[in-house]
Amino acid sequence: MADGSDVVVVGGGVIGAACARELAERGVQVTLIERAELAGAASGRNLGLWSTPYDPMLVPMARAGLQSYLAIVDDAPLPVFLDREAIGILSTIGEEEKEAAQVDRDAAAAVGVTSEHLDPQQLRRLEPELRPDLAGAWLLHDGHRLDPAALTVALALRAKELGAVIRHHLSVRALLRQGDRVAGVATDEGTVEAGTVVLAAGPWSQDLLRTLDLRIPITGARGWLVRLRPPRTLISHWIEGAARSLFRASVGEVAAGAFAEGVPEPDVGTMLQPAPDGSIVAGASRQAVVTNEPDDAGVPHAIVRGAISMLPALAEAAVVSAWWGVRPMSPDERPLVGRLAEGLIVATGHGSEGVILAAGTGQLVAAAITGDEPPFNPAPFDPGRFA
Ligand SMILES: Cc1cc2nc3c(=O)[nH]c(=O)nc-3n(C[C@H](O)[C@H](O)[C@H](O)COP(=O)(O)OP(=O)(O)OC[C@H]3O[C@@H](n4cnc5c(N)ncnc54)[C@H](O)[C@@H]3O)c2cc1C
Repeated sequence: MADGSDVVVVGGGVIGAACARELAERGVQVTLIERAELAGAASGRNLGLWSTPYDPMLVPMARAGLQSYLAIVDDAPLPVFLDREAIGILSTIGEEEKEAAQVDRDAAAAVGVTSEHLDPQQLRRLEPELRPDLAGAWLLHDGHRLDPAALTVALALRAKELGAVIRHHLSVRALLRQGDRVAGVATDEGTVEAGTVVLAAGPWSQDLLRTLDLRIPITGARGWLVRLRPPRTLISHWIEGAARSLFRASVGEVAAGAFAEGVPEPDVGTMLQPAPDGSIVAGASRQAVVTNEPDDAGVPHAIVRGAISMLPALAEAAVVSAWWGVRPMSPDERPLVGRLAEGLIVATGHGSEGVILAAGTGQLVAAAITGDEPPFNPAPFDPGRFA
């Protein structure tokens, strides 16, 4: 096979699918190539929360998302769950957490999220099943649940409707070089030439850069989730315990000296999502990874312990399933989106916010390829900023 396309997108996660859709909307001929199934990695295995990022630099990229997803799900050929209205995020405050909770609340206010303070009695009236010793909570007027796997597939199918070629179960083995530029990809079925390659291969993006002698500092952070089925409805808001601070801890490369002594320590926080089917998805964890398969099977137990401590009636719930995904991490927790070499654009490193940021990423990538005005300032996402 020696095929051709204006653009080849490598990776069928939410970022690759959003890029393919934005490019196809602009009439660009796109081929998206995914080595397994669409949304088979973190993009189909995450919590599916759309909320405003606390990092102000990410807000313009996030803003593009919700409206664009609402438009996609209305016309999608498969059902895609998405809350039209925010369900509210309850950021609970333990005795020791008052200061941290205030910092979170201030960060939320700084990016335009309104909130109200609840004292212990008000909290109890709103969510009577939560542990009784909480010192209150902040109720943030934010938080939309969505089905991330279905959204990813819907984005890819929309691109297909507009003429994109979607290939899955096909590995890209190398990026092709022609002089100083990247000119396509080599796959298990032959080559696909392209004017531009968009590398959206998540935590595996660096693997394909090695042969070109290029390096981006992308690492992986595993996160576990557990689905519990309580006998009755226990909560109606998204609940976050000490989870936000967990997502502020940075995860990077694993030092060989530390690895020689054992697996990197996981951070575990408590986050409870009341799922639309009545189950509760409990998370989350963050742990630097180097192996594909999990090397610390104790993490889901710790997540369930945290969930029961926050919501004691969960002790009676059935454990339905537990799974993990690997987040693509960058050193400053901001994605890398932009031109890395002639003919090569990267779009990865979205950490814990890839669903939130995918539509904006797609718009930025499409503008870079078509030469349109960028939809927002691209400088914070320059993939060369760590050089
Ligand atoms: C537990 C957990 C909870 C999360 N919760 C949220 C949340 O609530 N909200 C949110 O916004 N984000 C959340 N995230 C983060 C989000 O899941 C990620 O940021 C996002 O999925 C990254 O998308 P991606 O497309 O870059 O990567 P991926 O989903 O990893 O997709 C990359 C794809 O590239 C493919 N690929 C790799 N190499 C090749 C190759 N050589 N050839 C072809 N294909 C290749 C892979 O198979 C994969 O499908 C969470 C993550 C985890 C783990």
